[in-house]
Amino acid sequence: MSRIRILGAGVAGLAVATELVSRGAEVEVVDPGGGPTAASCSWWAGGMLAPFCEYENAEEAVLRLGQAAKHWWGRVTQVTEAGTLVVAHRRDLADLRQFAHRTERFHSVDADGIRKLEPELFGFDHGLFFESEAHLSPRRALEDLTTKLSSQGVFIETTPARSEPDLTVDCRGFAARDALPDLRGVKGEMLVIRAPDVSIKRPVRLLHPRIPLYIVPRGDGVYMLGATMIESEDRGRITARSMLELLSSAYALNPAFGEAEVLEIGVDLRPAFPDNLPKVRRRGDTIYANGLYRHGFLLAPALAMAVAELALNDKVTELVDADYAER
Ligand SMILES: Cc1cc2nc3c(=O)[nH]c(=O)nc-3n(C[C@H](O)[C@H](O)[C@H](O)COP(=O)(O)OP(=O)(O)OC[C@H]3O[C@@H](n4cnc5c(N)ncnc54)[C@H](O)[C@@H]3O)c2cc1C
Repeated sequence: MSRIRILGAGVAGLAVATELVSRGAEVEVVDPGGGPTAASCSWWAGGMLAPFCEYENAEEAVLRLGQAAKHWWGRVTQVTEAGTLVVAHRRDLADLRQFAHRTERFHSVDADGIRKLEPELFGFDHGLFFESEAHLSPRRALEDLTTKLSSQGVFIETTPARSEPDLTVDCRGFAARDALPDLRGVKGEMLVIRAPDVSIKRPVRLLHPRIPLYIVPRGDGVYMLGATMIESEDRGRITARSMLELLSSAYALNPAFGEAEVLEIGVDLRPAFPDNLPKVRRRGDTIYANGLYRHGFLLAPALAMAVAELALNDKVTELVDADYAER
């Protein structure tokens, strides 16, 4: 049995480790944080498993491969299957129509339909309901993966064991740019707020020409507001403009969000290749698994399966970059 070292305990590394262990591989996971931490992009994700909504501006592969995600995650963590509601203000109805045109598996809802789904959303007459979509809590999912791995004898080490592995799987996210020069960072900013007076049950996306907002309920009156998409590799702090736009969009969904407490501000860089699709590349005894872009939780299962097939069966599947498939 070959020994495999995985670098990185973000969603990619942990999903790859889980998939390899389930197929009987001997695995070691190394991350300087000793586990998923605020240094991982995965820490800041919304956790939407929304392949149909994402298809609005993604490749067909995202739609197809993303549909298996909720079943994969359902085996390791709590997945809430409450669908996604997409709404727009009357002045932005053209955006809603365009969104409908580019997506599938939704039904249109009017003011009554919106009220039935989310009684605490105000002032919306038109929406789209993607009933089969789901969401999860990213930090809980990462913790559940870590716990599952440790129950199988795989612990996350801060430094590699002294003996060299037979194969390394590099899942360092944006940090792997030293080895993957075509990887870029796409800045995302998000907020976590507590608004105990507002009750929203499912992810809601508010279409807006400049900054489309989504809000994901985390339970106990806590919500994640996200997320900006900025072609910038400045991981610094959130800008005043992004903060204003995220908060004012939430306020537009329900004015009671104006009383929310801001619990956290998150900024990170989504690792992305030029076509925004994840890729598996092999160079000698290293396999690189990266480029999850805005689809970390949605596509990590598919990425992990592609790595496992390549590493254990030498099988080149869809996400394997054909230019880097040979040993
Ligand atoms: C604001 C925001 C919202 C998002 N929302 C969603 C969403 O709703 N749904 C979704 O599916 N995706 C979402 N994403 C995208 C998702 O977060 C990323 O695609 C995903 O986190 C990338 O995962 P990763 O494991 O490749 O990288 P990371 O999570 O960054 O993990 C890389 C790990 O490598 C470690 N590392 C670094 N250097 C080394 C080294 N030398 N040796 C070993 N380990 C090392 C790091 O410590 C880190 O833990 C969002 C992203 C952002 C920023």
